[in-house]
Amino acid sequence: MVTEKGVIGIRIAGLSEGLHEYDFACKASDFKNPELAEPAFCNEIRVRIAAVRTEREMTVDIETKTVAEFSCDRCLEPLKKELTGKYRILFAFSDTGALSEKSDENYRALDRNAVTVDLTEDVRETLLLSKPMKVVCADKSACTLYQENSPLNADHESETASPWKESLEKLKGK
Ligand SMILES: [Zn+2]
Repeated sequence: MVTEKGVIGIRIAGLSEGLHEYDFACKASDFKNPELAEPAFCNEIRVRIAAVRTEREMTVDIETKTVAEFSCDRCLEPLKKELTGKYRILFAFSDTGALSEKSDENYRALDRNAVTVDLTEDVRETLLLSKPMKVVCADKSACTLYQENSPLNADHESETASPWKESLEKLKGK
């Protein structure tokens, strides 16, 4: 796996057993990733890592927090939303860097002699997953385009298409 170097990483060489906490402050541009270059992630991103090390393994909890800036999907008014993302990875220390049991995204082997573990990719992933699919004004009365029973707010198109609706669809597709 190729990742940009060391945006978020923790030093594990000589790390004692028990809980270790780390705080990072970064920007989306630090990740050099086109998915994060979108305007939503324009504010500071706080990352908290809690690592619990035992002799055989290490549990890493990632929490990301940022105030993302969107525009309402309905009325296009700008709005801010605090996003919190959470992710947990379990690292099993190994002498060979390979796991005997089946490994997956959340369960990985870690070379016992590794100096650092790079979490950049996981933090990026956590952040992206914290982004909601749909963003609309939290306060319906503030949303200038929100109307009860409006076709704009219907989840599926049940009515027959009217010329008015067609031109609206064209506008939305712009
Ligand atoms: Zn709105």
